Amino acid sequence: MDLSRFPRIKLAFFPSPIHRLDRMSDALGIELWAKRDDIASGLAFGGNKIRKLEFLAADALAQGCDTLVSIGNIQSNHTRQVAAVAAKLGMKCRLVQEEWTQWPDPTYDKVGNILLSRIMGAETILEGEGYSTAEKETWQHALDAVRREGGKPYAIPAGASDHPLGGLGYAAFAEEVAAQERELGMFFDTVVTATCTGSTQAGMVVGFAGQSRRRRLIGVDTAANAEMTRHAVTKIAHQTAAAVGLNTAIRDEDIVIDPRFCGPDYGLPDEPTIAAIRMAATHEGMLTDPVYEGKSMAGVIAMARAGEFEKGAKVLYVHLGGAPALNAYHSAFAA
Ligand SMILES: *Cc1c(COP(=O)(O)O)cnc(C)c1O
Repeated sequence: MDLSRFPRIKLAFFPSPIHRLDRMSDALGIELWAKRDDIASGLAFGGNKIRKLEFLAADALAQGCDTLVSIGNIQSNHTRQVAAVAAKLGMKCRLVQEEWTQWPDPTYDKVGNILLSRIMGAETILEGEGYSTAEKETWQHALDAVRREGGKPYAIPAGASDHPLGGLGYAAFAEEVAAQERELGMFFDTVVTATCTGSTQAGMVVGFAGQSRRRRLIGVDTAANAEMTRHAVTKIAHQTAAAVGLNTAIRDEDIVIDPRFCGPDYGLPDEPTIAAIRMAATHEGMLTDPVYEGKSMAGVIAMARAGEFEKGAKVLYVHLGGAPALNAYHSAFAA
């Protein structure tokens, strides 16, 4: 697999750290480590979209675009990371912020991610509702508006996923993990990631498939629609495999989507989500969020307690960011 022919701009301090979660390992009786994509960027609290945007932003610059146009939920981590990248590169940024989740809090459209995007100079347009991987009209309107105003937009889909370059960031991530394993002298046989718009898991599927030693990759669905998520991951994995010239086939069984920990809906935590957030916070000082990482952590905890990890398994929890949304969810942690 050769990623070097794809233009890429450095937007983070990679490799992101890998470290053992000592107190959680003890409490759960497993060997649990974390790969910290949440803290690997200097851009506005970072997160997994930065890795993907290293490739998309390079493409935007190569095409001479001046405005990044994207779409996400009102509390989208993705759009906040697009805003940060635009600021860093001296580009303009227009963001369609849809209501994917009914979280009745008066601060929901004011604090956290959307606040940070506004501070970084992005224009935030609040319209549209409902999470779906389908392409949205509102996004097309925003692209048209930039063109009408004489700008040159670069279109970044939700989560930077359904895009020809969307899977490259996490294919590169897989190579990064392998290099760190060589340094640590260990092998993570089980990797757990949150999954939603799909290119994070899809990139990992492709990157890990290119390695000689097989491992188990578990995507914890956070879209509350495991079939839609599977469809997205599968499509992007095949497209990415073709783009990087992967010399082995992606099999259906390489794409594991666990539907059990998504809570009642996208963006809505359940009791295990909140308990997982509290456990990571009180045992490790590591912050996770109610939309994504708290759900994948709830998955790790439940699987550990149910004995679903093989004895002696080395489990790598991939932390993809998201903590800025916590502010909007203060009521979920009321004493
Ligand atoms: C976007 C996001 C995810 C999901 O990644 P996809 O590539 O959309 O599947 C998981 N965690 C966090 C914190 C995110 O912002």
